[in-house]
Amino acid sequence: MMVDVASRKATKTMNRVNESHRFKIGAFNCTVVSDGTFTYKPPTFPPPTTFLFANAQKEDLTKTVHKHNLDPEKWTEWTSPYLCLVINTGENVVLVDTGADGLGPNTGKLSKNLNSSGISPGDRDTVILTHGHPDHIGGNTTSGGKSAFPDARFVMWKDEWNFWNSDEAELRLEHGTEVLLGSARKNLPPIRGQVDLVEHEREIVPGIRAVAAPGHTPGHMALSISSEGEKLLCVSDAFLHSIHVEQPEWYSIVDFSPERVVDTRRRLLGMAAREKALVFAFHFAFPGLGFVAWSEEGWRWQPRAL
Ligand SMILES: [Zn+2]
Repeated sequence: MMVDVASRKATKTMNRVNESHRFKIGAFNCTVVSDGTFTYKPPTFPPPTTFLFANAQKEDLTKTVHKHNLDPEKWTEWTSPYLCLVINTGENVVLVDTGADGLGPNTGKLSKNLNSSGISPGDRDTVILTHGHPDHIGGNTTSGGKSAFPDARFVMWKDEWNFWNSDEAELRLEHGTEVLLGSARKNLPPIRGQVDLVEHEREIVPGIRAVAAPGHTPGHMALSISSEGEKLLCVSDAFLHSIHVEQPEWYSIVDFSPERVVDTRRRLLGMAAREKALVFAFHFAFPGLGFVAWSEEGWRWQPRAL
């Protein structure tokens, strides 16, 4: 009986740990909040080695994934966390990305996890959308098609908003066009009257700065967050997997402009190392936090222990 209670307690604690994680950047209270996970696998998606590292040479790829204790032949599916971020600066409560409500059986948990973290809907005055993919804008709207955050200011890069709200997306997308466009058409028009478009790098709220990070999508945006000399760099999908930190020139089939992805990654890696910033990545292992370090062998991802 004692054992049952103890193991039940342990499971409960583990679940809680995987739903949200609190940390501080200077005076800012930050919380990583999970929206769930999604498994990318055939037949809808190619195997992870092709999906994530489309241009990698076979020999290099085999060597690299082996170092991560993965066998390229047996690595047939990739289960990715979807991690949103709440930053309470004291003046503003900012949500970064809204998750993937409706995309898969294990997504759309953001709202429940925000509530259980003690962050209520009315608290969030700013919602920053790093880009227009379904896993980042899927929680913008209610099931009735209305804005899920009617009192908030939404922020998105202008090129990104224009891309998804024009015919260009339909003409230029090569993979998953129907799902991507369906999500954009459902989740962007209802927030039209609330959106503040960013055209150049600037502060969004005091302490949170927009950083141009194009490539994954045309107007993909990173965020530089600073308080009392401490820095957090939110890279969103400039890196989809920690192997991209080591191999910044390996792009994914879903990267819109591979050349710009590589340039963006190099710039973000340089910024993170120079500023000794903690890095937050939406798709990395929970809670998506770590540091980057440069050595003779190249860049390394060092996850921050929980
Ligand atoms: Zn994503």
